Amino acid sequence: MSHIETPPLTMSPATMPPERPTRQALLKGWRRRCPSCGNGQLLSGYLKVRDECAVCGETLSHHRADDGPAYLTILIVGHLMVPFMMIAWTKFRPDPMVMVTIFSIGTVALSLYLLPRFKGMVVAYQWAKRMHGFGRDRDSAG
Ligand SMILES: [Zn+2]
Repeated sequence: MSHIETPPLTMSPATMPPERPTRQALLKGWRRRCPSCGNGQLLSGYLKVRDECAVCGETLSHHRADDGPAYLTILIVGHLMVPFMMIAWTKFRPDPMVMVTIFSIGTVALSLYLLPRFKGMVVAYQWAKRMHGFGRDRDSAG
C-alpha cells in the first residue's frame, strides 16, 4: 500500500513568506518603480514591464496586467471627462469646435498620463498579493 505525503494545510510563522504591504506597493507602482524596493524602474519603455528589477533583482516578468490598466484608464478618464463636458457646455456654451478640440486633447493627454501609472499599480498589486507566480520567487523558494 502506497502512502502519499501531503504538506500541512497551515503554515507556521517560520515558514510563511514575508508580508508584502499592498498600499506601499501600489504607491511604488504609481511612481512606476519596482514594487519590492521602490528604486528600480518598473517599465523599460512606455508600457513594457522589465523582466527583473535592475536594483534589487526582483523578478517582474510574472505580471499578467493584460487589459486591466486600459480598463481602469477608460473608467477614470470617462467618469472625469463626461461631467466636465456637461459643465463646460451648460455654463460656457463654447463653440463646438473649441469644445471638441479642448476635450480631445484633454482626454488623450490624461489617458497617456494615467495608463503607465495604472499599469504600475496593477503589476504592484499582483506582486503584493503573490499572484501569477510572484509568490514563487526568491523569498519563498528553497
Ligand atoms: Zn527592485
